[in-house]
Amino acid sequence: MMGISMKIWNEASDKLKALKNQGRTEEHRNIEPELLFPLDYLTYGDKNSYFISCMVKNYPEKKWMNSKEIVQKYPAFENLPEDYVGNVSYDAGNVKVKNALNGFRILSETNGADLRYNSEVTSFDKSSITLTDGTTFTGRNVVICCGPFTIDKFDKNYTNVKVIPTETINFGGDLSDLPGIFYESSEKYSIYSLRDKHDFSCQKFGIHGEKDTDLTMEWAKERIPSKVKEIIGIDACFYTVTEGHEFIYKTNPDGVHYGYGLNGEGFKYMPAHGKIIYDGLITGDDTTYLKQLKAKI
Ligand SMILES: Cc1cc2nc3c(=O)[nH]c(=O)nc-3n(C[C@H](O)[C@H](O)[C@H](O)COP(=O)(O)OP(=O)(O)OC[C@H]3O[C@@H](n4cnc5c(N)ncnc54)[C@H](O)[C@@H]3O)c2cc1C
Repeated sequence: MMGISMKIWNEASDKLKALKNQGRTEEHRNIEPELLFPLDYLTYGDKNSYFISCMVKNYPEKKWMNSKEIVQKYPAFENLPEDYVGNVSYDAGNVKVKNALNGFRILSETNGADLRYNSEVTSFDKSSITLTDGTTFTGRNVVICCGPFTIDKFDKNYTNVKVIPTETINFGGDLSDLPGIFYESSEKYSIYSLRDKHDFSCQKFGIHGEKDTDLTMEWAKERIPSKVKEIIGIDACFYTVTEGHEFIYKTNPDGVHYGYGLNGEGFKYMPAHGKIIYDGLITGDDTTYLKQLKAKI
């Protein structure tokens, strides 16, 4: 999924650069074609924990730092237990969401898509969609991608999707003494953290599926005490997960297709999800990947 997504993000970025260089319209001249923002990703934690011990076993070729080396590299961390180990990946990063949404909109329109705004889908069947303004579209296939929060409204056959309220804490200030993305795994903590906001000026951290921020704050006070004074707010989120963390792509008995990106990673994998749906419905190219996915669902 990651490989296909990266390839399409990069292809889209190149196409946007070309449109910008051609400069045919003001909108094209204003394109911001950079879609990916590289960051270092530290995975670390108790070497005896299940997650970290599996990582060390499965990736022995990686350079595993001890806790002193981790702190040397990232001085914002404090009180790291001695039996912590960690590894940094440099091929990680974030998607520039605003550039990506705007860029994909422009590319879709350049390729002939007819996008409608501010008019909701009120009804549909396997070959037509009707909007609140009364417009009806007909076609060979209807794919519903109306989002994790609306699955229960539109997909009468939906199962195995859990919506879990989650709160993350954001802090600002100097972020240079921390990895751009990190994940700590130990018996006590399972903390994830990454850069956030349009200009990546803040860092959010939290625990998947944890509504209460008490444990997250306890972690911050112990692990990154110098950052606690830089806390600027709390974001509420609905973490929407499927069993086994799969992307949903299926056809219901009524012939309507459904595609949803979920599991806190649906955005970064969106190009791959789109390609899987496109390959399945338009080119009929039932790729190995799609077969694997169908087997899982
Ligand atoms: C707080 C939060 C943080 C996240 N962080 C990440 C992250 O770091 N990385 C990552 O990869 N993913 C992340 N995700 C997940 C990602 O945002 C989703 O997986 C992805 O947006 C799903 O895309 P979608 O197109 O299926 O749905 P959505 O993005 O929800 O889009 C659905 C669209 O359909 C519209 N809609 C709804 N009903 C109708 C209707 N009746 N008619 C017409 N339109 C309708 C909605 O307004 C919306 O614009 C996060 C999600 C949340 C909530």
